[in-house]
Amino acid sequence: MRPKYLWLDGKIVPWKKGTIHLATPGVQYGLGGFEGIRFYRTDKGPAIFRLPEHLARFSYPHWSIGTKTAYSEEELICAIKRLIRKTGMEEGYIRPVSLLAEETLGIERIGKLVKTAIILWHWEKGLRSEAVSAKISKVRRIHPASLDVCAKVNGHYVNSRLAILDVQNSGSYDKAILLDHKGYVAEAAAENIFMVKNGILITPSCGAILPGITRDTIMILARDYLGRDVVREKKITPDELLNGDEVFLCGTAAEILPVGSIDGIVIGDGKPGKTTRRLQALYSDVARGKIKLYARWLTYVR
Ligand code: PMP
Repeated sequence: MRPKYLWLDGKIVPWKKGTIHLATPGVQYGLGGFEGIRFYRTDKGPAIFRLPEHLARFSYPHWSIGTKTAYSEEELICAIKRLIRKTGMEEGYIRPVSLLAEETLGIERIGKLVKTAIILWHWEKGLRSEAVSAKISKVRRIHPASLDVCAKVNGHYVNSRLAILDVQNSGSYDKAILLDHKGYVAEAAAENIFMVKNGILITPSCGAILPGITRDTIMILARDYLGRDVVREKKITPDELLNGDEVFLCGTAAEILPVGSIDGIVIGDGKPGKTTRRLQALYSDVARGKIKLYARWLTYVR
């Protein structure tokens, strides 16, 4: 269900007013940046999870497309809170998006005019108790020398979409895993990836991946709860991944998603593993304000 309102360049407007002209570089070439943020129901009303980190990333892609975000972090925080209050939503997904908006078809001389919107979406899925199936896609993750992989630029998601189509066309797989340009495991289409081997959590190092905020949260939680030396960031080959005791994906939307099989090969016993379940429960409690130690990660709306 769609909320009744969205925020567009300073104003809360009815949902159907959230439009941009077709002849703009945002639409024509995917030139824009976006974010995906969650807010959760807590005892003290809705709270946004790791908002400053998401907004820092939101302003980052604007450099990579040659312009700056039109709003400061404070203005965006205010706008997001105001919109959540106006819709009355208690939990959901927040999608800020900034698109280059000058009406022109030429790619050589694109101005700096930006249209910024904040869109909310109802999203109440809870912890995932079943494992998903994944396939390693033929489509490689974008080369870091071609595009800035750390930026959430709209056009980059052609890469994700192609990987998803590739695995969906080769069977009934839930998720696509992309290798980087050198053939090491990179990430999923919109999630980072972890494997667990002999109690150690291993995740691809940065370079060809989007350094996810959920990935960062998981590394902190794992070090705090499972042991200081429990996390390794390193290159992972596809074979290593298939030999993991557990594999899971993670991202703002998916949270922590257990993977039961990859390319038809069962991971562990095919069910969500012990470490994955422990991290899922911790993540859920932290996001809902149940663990005081991480209260700094929550921005309350009221
Ligand atoms: N990789 C890609 C390509 C993504 O789009 C996302 C979703 N933002 C992630 C990883 C996970 O990032 P985060 O945990 O910050 O949502």
